[in-house]
Amino acid sequence: MKKMMISLAAAGALMLSAAPLQADAVGNGPNYGGNETINTSILHTYSELASYLQKQEAKQQDMELEVIGQSVKGRDLYLVKYMKNPENPTILFLTQQHGNEQLTTEGALEFIKHLGTGKMKGVTDNVNILIVPMLNPDGAMGDVDFSLDDYVASGDRHLTRYNALGVDLNRDHVTKIQPETQALHNNVMSKYDIDYMIDLHHQGARSERDGELVSGSILYPTTPNVDPEVLEGSKKLGAVVFDAVDSTGWGHLGKYVGGTAETISRNGIAVEYGISTLLFEMRGMSDHEYEPYVLGQKSNGYLIKQTIKTLDSTVRAIADGSIETKDTSFWDTLAEQTTRQSEEDE
Ligand SMILES: [Zn+2]
Repeated sequence: MKKMMISLAAAGALMLSAAPLQADAVGNGPNYGGNETINTSILHTYSELASYLQKQEAKQQDMELEVIGQSVKGRDLYLVKYMKNPENPTILFLTQQHGNEQLTTEGALEFIKHLGTGKMKGVTDNVNILIVPMLNPDGAMGDVDFSLDDYVASGDRHLTRYNALGVDLNRDHVTKIQPETQALHNNVMSKYDIDYMIDLHHQGARSERDGELVSGSILYPTTPNVDPEVLEGSKKLGAVVFDAVDSTGWGHLGKYVGGTAETISRNGIAVEYGISTLLFEMRGMSDHEYEPYVLGQKSNGYLIKQTIKTLDSTVRAIADGSIETKDTSFWDTLAEQTTRQSEEDE
């Protein structure tokens, strides 16, 4: 309890000094439909992301940037690697399988920058980190073979869940028909000995737990075919994330309600590769045709910060081995999120 109060006080101090991290952004934060506009132009474009990654690679000795394939429209798909010792445990962070869920990518880019600074010194000696940011760049850039005219955000582009052919990549992990899914499986999943994966998404803006809107919800693999040890690793990974985020004062996490289909990466990748996976669904999408899914940009600050916190806490817990002894019993009491309107996303 004492520890909790200290961390809340620290979070409070942080909020006073950092404007984007307003406490009210979590509970009653600005939804679309408030007084703000939603301008997608403030997000990294695909080409800005590419040049950002290239600059970081030039700056960071331990970072390696690799092209793992191309999207339907021919955009290079990137893998960021920190792999000092193949014997170390390895975690993969995957963002933007769904093109309109971009704040997870914004957080991953910021985290990549952190990895090149003194504050992460020594961490990559003990853990290998793989990051695939923006697996669906065509959807993210709205460069697709179907109309986005009814999408609600303004800015220089629309962002959509689907790839250029209108396919949901996170339903393609068994047949692997799309080039984006093939790139991930052939050049990342099959190629490296990965222990953990966090698949980062955004859901609608109106999910709640215990009467309060959530900043996000998490879930482990729920297919009956998952190996019990893999499942336990997933629950430990979730415990690290929950403790790090829910204790911040601005984070409020629920248990996501998800299905058992192995076409979804959370389930399919756990079964096919024996990787402990965690789904993290952050609050609110960057663009959509359905208004209640979209969250105003005043929430961007804490949602990006939530992503960084997630990546930072998990690499540290794997690097120092503390993930191994993590208590997973919180999962037994963590309430499933409820939604004010019906939502389907993962
Ligand atoms: Zn998603």
